[in-house]
Order: sequence, then structure tokens, then C-alpha cells
Amino acid sequence: MLSYSTVKEKGYAKINLHLDITGRLEGGYHAVATVMQTVTLCDEITIEDIKHSDVPSFEISCNKPDVPCDERNLAYKAALLFCEASGVNVSAKIHIEKNIPMAAGMAGGSTDGAAVLRGLNKAFGEMLSTERICEIGSRLGADVPFCVVGGTAYADGKGDVLHVLPNMPRCYILVACEGEGVSTPWAYKLLDGIYSDFNENSGYEPKDIGGLLDSLNLGDKARIAAEMYNIFEAPVLAERPVARKVKALMMEGGAVNAMMSGSGPSVFGIFMSEDEAKNAQRLLYDNGFKGYVCVPCV
Ligand code: ATP
Repeated sequence: MLSYSTVKEKGYAKINLHLDITGRLEGGYHAVATVMQTVTLCDEITIEDIKHSDVPSFEISCNKPDVPCDERNLAYKAALLFCEASGVNVSAKIHIEKNIPMAAGMAGGSTDGAAVLRGLNKAFGEMLSTERICEIGSRLGADVPFCVVGGTAYADGKGDVLHVLPNMPRCYILVACEGEGVSTPWAYKLLDGIYSDFNENSGYEPKDIGGLLDSLNLGDKARIAAEMYNIFEAPVLAERPVARKVKALMMEGGAVNAMMSGSGPSVFGIFMSEDEAKNAQRLLYDNGFKGYVCVPCV
């Protein structure tokens, strides 16, 4: 049953081209409408010494000291879920080479969990379907099913119900994550304070997504950039001056548009050419900020 004792997987970062909260679901969850895109900025996950074992046992390591290398790590949780769903007890060493900024709104942890689910499934001869892997993944986090499949997708529900979209056309994306961190619960509290139940009484209006979907269908990257939206952006950037400055520098550096990803504080800019993206990266650097140039994963 074991096909490989070592597998390597890339865990790609995600950006949100559209992110809206459309109401509340049972259990107090927020109802999400989002278009997500994986980009080539990625963590590299190596799973080795994969063996059958009496009990599941995983050793996690990471190049970044602030990543928890114990049962709190999403890679560890994913490995346990794989054992539970497949009925196979596994032991393995999992190394995460982390390149994605942490607590940035780019699904860094979720993508590592998704990579481990894909990797272990590969090692065991693809014994679980992609649908099953997504189902298991949704127990780790709402954005894990998207991280399993990647590319371009619309998601609703808690953000875990996926609808695949046409690939984003090739463009250059400059990503930066600078300044004070943002915790996702804090960002949701900010929104709740403004919109409470997300109905018209609180001034909330759902953002029309039709223009973005049309432009993805047409492969019109300038219009895709123009149609981007994130409901978290205005309230979070009002509290995060450094991220605001990064966005302004991207616009000054020639981005067609720039937007915060997820609940922030990462910001990404869309550029028509690699040269333009690299010039803006230099402008960020001259102002003391680090940017990563990447392209959409297709
Ligand atoms: P999202 O976009 O899904 O909200 P994020 O970018 O806000 O994710 P992460 O980078 O996933 O946030 O990290 C959030 C916290 O999760 C970290 O502070 C860390 O303690 C914990 N964590 C658990 N597993 C991982 C992992 N594999 N990589 C990074 N962080 C992890």
C-alpha cells in the first residue's frame, strides 16, 4: 500500500481577489463569499521516513523558530486526520521550509496542512479521492479545501464550499506583509462592530461579484484588478498604518490595483509586467519593506 517513503509537496499561499461577508450562519459563523487564488510564493514540505506504524507518530520541524512544531501545527493535525480517514497508522518526519509570511491572511498554516494531506495520500497510492481530502481538510480550517485544489475558485458557506473558476491570466503579483500583525478574530470583531448582523439596517450592502467573474471569464487582467474587493480592508487598514503605506507604495510603484488579502495585514499589487513588479519591489525595499514577486498558480 505504501508507494513512496519520501514525498515533497509545495504549499502555495493564497490571495483573495474578492472577500465579502454576506451574513451569519447557524452556530455564529460568518457567511463568506470569496474568490481565492493560489500564487507561486510557497512553503516546501518534505515528508520522509514514511512507514506503517502501531500508532500514528509525527516529528515536525521548521526553518522558522516561531512556528509551533508540536500537535498545534496544522501539518501535524492534518497527518493525524489522514490516519483517521484512511484507517492506516503512519509514522513520518515532516519538515516545513516556511517562506509564506505568518499570520498574514495568506493561509500559511492551512496550505501546509493541505500539502501534508496531499503528500500522505500520494505516498499511500492516492487511496483517498480529492473530494475526501477536501472534506477532511475542512475540519482543519475553512480555507484548507481550497488549498488542497489551488488555482482560482469561488467559495461560499464558511469559505469551504468550492466552485472552480477559469484560471487567472498570467500577471505579476507583488506581495508584502509588514507592520503589526492582525489576528483574524480581532478583524471579525472590527467588522461586527460596524455591520452587526450584515443587513441593510446596519448600512451593509453585499458587493456585486459579477464584474470580477465576467473579467475572469474573459481573461481581462486589468479589469480583474479593478474589480477586486475586500470588506476587511477599510476597517483593518484604518488601524494598520504600515500596511496602508505598503498599499500606497504599490500604487505609486505602478500597480494596476493593490488590495489587502484576507483579514490582513498582507497586501498584494497586480502588475502587467515583471519589470514593473520588480520596480515596485525596489520601491518597497527603499522604504524598508520586503516584497515577494510571484505569479498566479494555474
Ligand atoms: P489564514 O489566512 O488562514 O487566516 P494566516 O496567514 O492568518 O492564515 P497562519 O500563517 O496560518 O495565519 O498562522 C496563524 C497561526 O497558526 C500562527 O501564529 C501559528 O501559531 C499557527 N500555526 C499552526 N500551524 C502552522 C503552520 N504550519 N504554519 C504557520 N503557522 C502555523
